[in-house]
Amino acid sequence: MEYLKKLIRDVPDFPKVGVLFKDITPLLQDAKGLKDSIACIASYVENKKIDIVVGAEARGFILATTVAFSIGTGFVPIRKPGKLPYEKASMTYNLEYGTDTLEIHKDGIKKGQQVLMVDDLLATGGTMNACCKLVESLGGNIVGCAFLIELGFLNGRDILSKYDLFSLIKY
Ligand code: 5GP
Repeated sequence: MEYLKKLIRDVPDFPKVGVLFKDITPLLQDAKGLKDSIACIASYVENKKIDIVVGAEARGFILATTVAFSIGTGFVPIRKPGKLPYEKASMTYNLEYGTDTLEIHKDGIKKGQQVLMVDDLLATGGTMNACCKLVESLGGNIVGCAFLIELGFLNGRDILSKYDLFSLIKY
């Protein structure tokens, strides 16, 4: 894990002043870092039945699709409003200031499908919680939520307490 941790770059004041952004691009460009990260997430679901992997734009796409390929399932995107072309389900959730909305294709999840959620980072948990609710609104069962990074001091686990959570690197 120390190897992976060294590939996460701290960028101060991004995207705004006062935020210390965890940049995963050095990890993505490192062959061993990328391979090991995906292998760890894949081993988390080794004994679980997964029908489909879901990830939110934009960094979630990269990891979720790679995990899906690795475990032999398909991938379903969750996107910001107005980006998906077909019939959509929407979920609006609260941010620190204001609200945000995410969308998924209505036929993205079939009723009863076993779903693995993947994102790069767990902070407050608001994004993942909205994604899980979207999937559940279509009848999917959330088997687990996997993250590359968890910012434990933001207590994102609290809002996601009903789900099985896995994170590779904790701060
Ligand atoms: P949350 O909704 O849990 O507060 O924020 C998590 C979402 O914001 C994730 O989708 C993640 O991509 C993004 N995010 C927030 N902070 C960071 C960060 O420091 N680094 C990265 N890579 N993503 C972040």
